[in-house]
Amino acid sequence: MSATVTVIDRARGIIPRAFDRVGSVAADPMVLAKLAQLQAAARGRDAHGILELALKGEFAGKSAVVSSFGAESAVLLHLVSQIDPATPILFLNTGKLFGETLRYRDRLQDILGLGDIRSLAPNPADRDRFDPEGILWSKDTDACCNFRKVVPLKRALEPFAAQVTGRKRFQTRERAAMQPVEFFEGRFRFNPLADWTLSELEAYTLEHNLPRHPLVEDGYPSIGCMPCTRRVAAGEDYRAGRWSGDDKDECGIHIGIDGEGI
Ligand code: SF4
Repeated sequence: MSATVTVIDRARGIIPRAFDRVGSVAADPMVLAKLAQLQAAARGRDAHGILELALKGEFAGKSAVVSSFGAESAVLLHLVSQIDPATPILFLNTGKLFGETLRYRDRLQDILGLGDIRSLAPNPADRDRFDPEGILWSKDTDACCNFRKVVPLKRALEPFAAQVTGRKRFQTRERAAMQPVEFFEGRFRFNPLADWTLSELEAYTLEHNLPRHPLVEDGYPSIGCMPCTRRVAAGEDYRAGRWSGDDKDECGIHIGIDGEGI
């Protein structure tokens, strides 16, 4: 299929660099066949096995892991460190994160021996243009997430044939139907922890004595940017502290503007 430019937000004029992608996934039988092959290969594998599919063999040197270094990130990163600690880890440093998250990133890097963490900052020109006062989050969260997260990640992913995420089905409505292997915005996407539960994550964390994000103990079960994350009270939903009071449940890096992705 022909190469196209993805317009992230035409109204606001935020446009990432052009990159080659499959214009219509459903119409590309080669992509569909490859996806079916990968999904069949993933069937019956545990998280470690799915991750090996993503990081070894045909995808060796062509995959990147996307991590927020949030509440449950240590599990996926520990698995990655066992297979290839030199795997590129893409981390969106939005400029609005908790200091605890930055220190947690450094601690995990040290403990797990992660050799290639890439901290992605928003483009300074975009910041000057769209959020000169640094308060866009209080007016338009979608626009803020767009230039601080969506656009930088799209650019960083350009050289890669596949990405790995730590998303779980239980987390959000959008993630409930997620498959261990998908195709999204021109590359394969592996979700080794898709069917993991909170209890399984907890058990793995304990078994491997992994450090916890310091804010978890302080009442934050899900952690994003500081202005858009609050403590969760007993009995509240796991994600209630994210964009609280807003209808928003995803920052946009994992869902296309048109819901693209299979
Ligand atoms: S989570 Fe909040 S502060 Fe962070 S990029 Fe999105 S809107 Fe901006």
